[in-house]
Amino acid sequence: MAILVLGGAGYIGSHTVYELIEAGRDVVVADNLITGFKAAIHPKARFYQVDIRDRKAADQLFEREQIDGVIHFAAFSQVGESMKNPLKYYDNNLYGTTVLLQSMVAHGVDKIVFSSTAATYGEPERIPILESDKTVPTNCYGETKLAMEKMMRWTGIAHPMHYVALRYFNACGAHASGKIGEAHDPETHLIPLILQVPLGKREKISIYGDDYPTKDGTCIRDYIHVSDLAQAHILALDYLMKGGESDVFNLGNGVGFTVKEVIDVARAVTGHPIPSEVVPRRAGDPAQLVASSDKAKTILGWKPQLDSLETIVASAWNWHKAHPNGFNG
Ligand code: UDP
Repeated sequence: MAILVLGGAGYIGSHTVYELIEAGRDVVVADNLITGFKAAIHPKARFYQVDIRDRKAADQLFEREQIDGVIHFAAFSQVGESMKNPLKYYDNNLYGTTVLLQSMVAHGVDKIVFSSTAATYGEPERIPILESDKTVPTNCYGETKLAMEKMMRWTGIAHPMHYVALRYFNACGAHASGKIGEAHDPETHLIPLILQVPLGKREKISIYGDDYPTKDGTCIRDYIHVSDLAQAHILALDYLMKGGESDVFNLGNGVGFTVKEVIDVARAVTGHPIPSEVVPRRAGDPAQLVASSDKAKTILGWKPQLDSLETIVASAWNWHKAHPNGFNG
């Protein structure tokens, strides 16, 4: 029996595949390689180049492999792009998940762990954010992820299907082996962008606004190591295997850092002065996003191991230094 990881060539998906294989699991990866990289796929995983919108291909996969659980990362994830091209997000994220769930129901595969996001909350009503807080996404990406969660919930009411949705805060860092790490094109995330400065690929880092109601005026986020996120997927799958009820969990460290604090840590880790410049706010950025992950800790037994920002930035630096062009060298 194998675990099917959809989107296993992407950033968080590839790290989860590494953790699953290190834990001795049999892993099948399906990815259309639109945003993922073949080189990110663990050599011990069986790989199918499949798009989840292709029902025939999904059916063939479930017929060929004995799948007892699915981990679903296959989605587009750029906030800015989702605002410019919402239908691209509805097509891949929602239609793709519809086809996947149809195929799972048809083949009696009844457990799914789903990669969701803090963007489902929108502007938070309080900090730290609890799973029971209101979900009013402020961008189309978050809206599609929330709709995917709801699709699983209703499917689970009509069919014998159980799901866990994991709402990540700011995923960052890279695998300890240095073999895989973050590689987006275009890159929009803070830590890889900061590290492009010491790599000589960017002159300075832009700070998107310093007039937020926070201690130094810059936005506060909860940065969580990708390998800790990966572990949570395995725990969530095991929870479902043991008969756990469908549920939603936040995944973060519960500690917020400002943009300026993150830049300072990167200066210390890299030994580079990393010049910065304050530019106008980026549309749609909430001032503060910090998770309460108590529920994941209590119910799933999750405990982040790589929870210091220095460790996170150092692991990202280790990857980017060795792979300045990501998986292209
Ligand atoms: N940010 C920034 N400069 C950049 C990229 C990001 O100041 O070049 C800020 C952004 O406004 C946010 C934080 O860094 O407050 C984290 O942004 P990121 O895009 O990494 O993740 P998000 O919080 O949007 O999921």
